[in-house]
Amino acid sequence: MSYITTKGFLLRIVPYRDNDVILDILTSEYGLITCSARNIRRKNGSLQQNISPFIFAEFELFYYRDRYQLNSSEIIEHFSPLAEDIQRLTCLSHLSELVMDILRYQPKATKIYAFWAYASYSIVYQEDPIFKTYLAQLKFVTDQGFSPWIENCLICHDLIQTEIFHFYLNKGGILCDKPSCRKHGVDSSIVLLHQANISAIFYLINLPYEKCFNIKIELELRDEFILFSKRYVNTVMEKEYKKLDMLTTMEKFEKGIYE
Ligand SMILES: [Zn+2]
Repeated sequence: MSYITTKGFLLRIVPYRDNDVILDILTSEYGLITCSARNIRRKNGSLQQNISPFIFAEFELFYYRDRYQLNSSEIIEHFSPLAEDIQRLTCLSHLSELVMDILRYQPKATKIYAFWAYASYSIVYQEDPIFKTYLAQLKFVTDQGFSPWIENCLICHDLIQTEIFHFYLNKGGILCDKPSCRKHGVDSSIVLLHQANISAIFYLINLPYEKCFNIKIELELRDEFILFSKRYVNTVMEKEYKKLDMLTTMEKFEKGIYE
């Protein structure tokens, strides 16, 4: 029986019984901690003031028989724009779903804490949170060992010099136009990428967290990047993430594009 005090990001809040919740807290010292919190929900369904989605806080936890229970929490960073901005909130909900899908199997993964700190700050406070989220998710899966192969042809390793690259999702990389290389890819898994987006992906993969979310691309190439990031992450994670779809549909609607 003991107490620990640790700082962390609140990644998920799951209702449990009438007034209780389960919290998933990402900490730098202990990795992911799952703990129960008693009497957190009020009768009207709202949460007590010291708990809200995605806060960064100092948590005091009671540890007994392999279980954690929240004793108290003190918010350090509220990420206050989230309270009024459904777009940024949805972006973070999506990213936390992806991050939790990895943490569930590797709760001690150490790099994820720094990733989340930089990615969540950029999604909450910088412009174009949707694009930031697609950058962040691609950086995240790259860190987890699913780096897209973009340096040369995945099969023959010749440099590819072209304006438009053929990225084969089923192979996780670009292929040159030689028939002996193309036969390895499946047509339905091609995503076309302009040279500028290949460069953007290169910088995203190689730059540290403090710089990689500042990458800017021309507006005409934004949708292409987003489509690539979405299909690539869904492919490597073998899962269809849907939370961002509503936001991109609304965005198209605002631009007058109907599908
Ligand atoms: Zn080739």
